[in-house]
Amino acid sequence: MKKIVVIGAGIVGLVVARELANYGFEVTIYDGKRSVEEGSDKASGILSKRGLELSGIRYKKSVINTLHGARLHFGRQTLNVNTEKVQAYVLDRGLMAKENYEAAKEAGVDVRLGNRLDIEGIRSMDDGSTVIIGADGAVSMVARAFSFPNIKDYILTYKAEYEGKGLVEDSGLVDLYFSKDFAKGFFGWIAPYSSAIAELGVGITEKSKKHSKMAFEVFTKSADLPLRLSNAKTIKEHASIIPVSSRPKTVKGNVLLVGDAAGQTKATTGGGIIFGIACAKVAAKSVYMNGKHGRKLSLYERDWRHSYGTDLKLHAALHSYYSTVSEKHMERFIGIAKALGAESFFSKYGDMDSPSLMLKRFFLRKMAK
Ligand SMILES: Cc1cc2nc3c(=O)[nH]c(=O)nc-3n(C[C@H](O)[C@H](O)[C@H](O)COP(=O)(O)OP(=O)(O)OC[C@H]3O[C@@H](n4cnc5c(N)ncnc54)[C@H](O)[C@@H]3O)c2cc1C
Repeated sequence: MKKIVVIGAGIVGLVVARELANYGFEVTIYDGKRSVEEGSDKASGILSKRGLELSGIRYKKSVINTLHGARLHFGRQTLNVNTEKVQAYVLDRGLMAKENYEAAKEAGVDVRLGNRLDIEGIRSMDDGSTVIIGADGAVSMVARAFSFPNIKDYILTYKAEYEGKGLVEDSGLVDLYFSKDFAKGFFGWIAPYSSAIAELGVGITEKSKKHSKMAFEVFTKSADLPLRLSNAKTIKEHASIIPVSSRPKTVKGNVLLVGDAAGQTKATTGGGIIFGIACAKVAAKSVYMNGKHGRKLSLYERDWRHSYGTDLKLHAALHSYYSTVSEKHMERFIGIAKALGAESFFSKYGDMDSPSLMLKRFFLRKMAK
């Protein structure tokens, strides 16, 4: 049986390691963090209910809030996508990491925290037979060590948690603000954790050559935010980075990339957990099929793109559309879309993860009528 080394104990690394251990492999996972929760509040934890249920990860102890809809603000237009059912959960990322760290350990994974590997350390693991899995995030050292091609597009983020009266209008709704003034190529968001605590964040394209913290400051002074923040105090704040295009190549010899290291994220929202986990499972199966039946490891690339590439491309196309059109155009477009019933369409058929599933649901119901 081949030896497996996973670099990165983020959620995707923990899942790929657990899956491989369940296939019977000897798996060691390395991470520079001293505890598995460290740094987890740099990112948010909004995940679709359906995606989480299908993911097979542990999350029940990590849920801090439930969401039933979203308000998308484009200048003077607001698109309300609101349902009575729970659509998504807000998870505590630290607790989620902990739950899934336990799951990996129970499966027999040897987790070595406090081990940040440099390029030489990573290259030295390549003895020709060990399978190396880079699950080391957006700025992957594994990708650099083995000269994988670069990811083309990144979003720089800045987010802060606030607590105060008047901050949260409806704890079941996320607000997304689209404006080139503060969120060039992305958006600003308010995600409620409870009726008194919310996370505010902003993302900007790396190509804008601006600082995400400065964009965040502009965001907090725009729209209805000064009013909502007037009685709120900051709890903590973080800057981070999200890849929003997939890496052109994600397998080379015995080295595979998964999760943010492979750019397996939704370009529209930057959400990378559901697709990252789904691709981690494809990676684990590819390693298993290679070990058991000699199937080429390089087929991992074809398999994950075949299963999830269409949805990721649809997200990329939507992202590219709203990043390039003018605000006036977008405002007009939303006005027309609302008049044509876009709000009830998204409320009925919407899916946070899979635009292709949304279209399938729509056409199937139309055909059934
Ligand atoms: C502001 C923000 C908000 C987000 N919101 C959401 C959301 O609501 N929903 C969602 O689905 N996704 C969201 N994402 C994206 C999501 O956080 C990522 O897609 C996800 O964390 C990717 O997981 P990963 O395991 O691939 O990488 P990471 O979580 O980045 O984990 C990589 C791990 O590798 C380790 N590592 C890196 N280099 C080395 C090295 N050289 N040696 C050893 N260890 C190393 C790191 O310490 C880290 O633990 C958000 C991201 C950001 C920045």
